[in-house]
Amino acid sequence: MRFTWWDPPREGVERGTVLRAVGAEVREFRGRPEVTFTWKTRVAPASPAELPRVDSDEIPFRLVRDLRPAEEGFRIEVRVVRVAPKSVTVGTERRVVHEGLVADRTGGIALSAWSDFGLKVGEAVRIAGGYVRSFRGRASLVLDERSTVVRVDGTDLPDPAELLRSPPRSIAEVEDEGGGEAVAEEGVVVALLPPSGLVYRCPTCHRAVRSGICRVHGQVVGQADLRARIVLDDGTGALTVNANRADTERLWGVTLEGAQARLRNQPDPSLLEEEMLESLLGRRLRVRGVGTKDDFGVTLTPESIDPVEIDLDSSAEELAARLAERP
Ligand SMILES: [Zn+2]
Repeated sequence: MRFTWWDPPREGVERGTVLRAVGAEVREFRGRPEVTFTWKTRVAPASPAELPRVDSDEIPFRLVRDLRPAEEGFRIEVRVVRVAPKSVTVGTERRVVHEGLVADRTGGIALSAWSDFGLKVGEAVRIAGGYVRSFRGRASLVLDERSTVVRVDGTDLPDPAELLRSPPRSIAEVEDEGGGEAVAEEGVVVALLPPSGLVYRCPTCHRAVRSGICRVHGQVVGQADLRARIVLDDGTGALTVNANRADTERLWGVTLEGAQARLRNQPDPSLLEEEMLESLLGRRLRVRGVGTKDDFGVTLTPESIDPVEIDLDSSAEELAARLAERP
């Protein structure tokens, strides 16, 4: 429940603090109750042991499809589709956030857990005490030390493989939906966007370095990396696929070391980029991953990129058979 505290303690109030308030006012604001501590309210610290136990059955049950940004105070049952720890900098602190995707029959939602709940792919869990946050237009379920996670049998929850192996859909459709957590697309490479090819990254934050300057860490010695920002078109629309080093090396057939050696012989990075474009242009790719949408359209962070080979022999046979059928 939202609350307003007029004249709060000067030293501030910490998240997680338990307070006892006597003489608080309850009002209605936009159809929801709200608590106000006025000059008449006596507020004092209390022990967490004094908090009444809330039966989890009292918390409303939600489906993933119905979760809205800023929502809290709900419980859901979901399957963990993917999860991996990621080290991030919050202020001056290094913290680990467990990021992933959870889903029920109605859809999937990104997950950011700031506490380690030991989540594993494939597990079915009941979650209470999380909240929904919107980041770059994508809703994400946030868990912290106040959230609870209980393992359930989850017989009516989807199989993670089923969710990730969904057949490709049209790019126009995914664009209309503003991206998605498990997007599958198939299309033809029509262009590369800069920066593609050999890039230099800050050794601390991995941002691309320009003229030896990281915009966060200043002057740094950049580390060489290979990437491709591929524009994929399926006839209904286009999206950008951000291929990392391993995918770029595999698709291009040139390693990072190979690219650096070429640059030493021919010190013009634009020629390298041209060479890369030549090898990728017109190829059909099947991509899967997380799609996010901004003013420039949908960008896909791939989990997999698979070239779709057009088998000339069988295509020719099929064509010959079709011609032979003609009267
Ligand atoms: Zn940096």
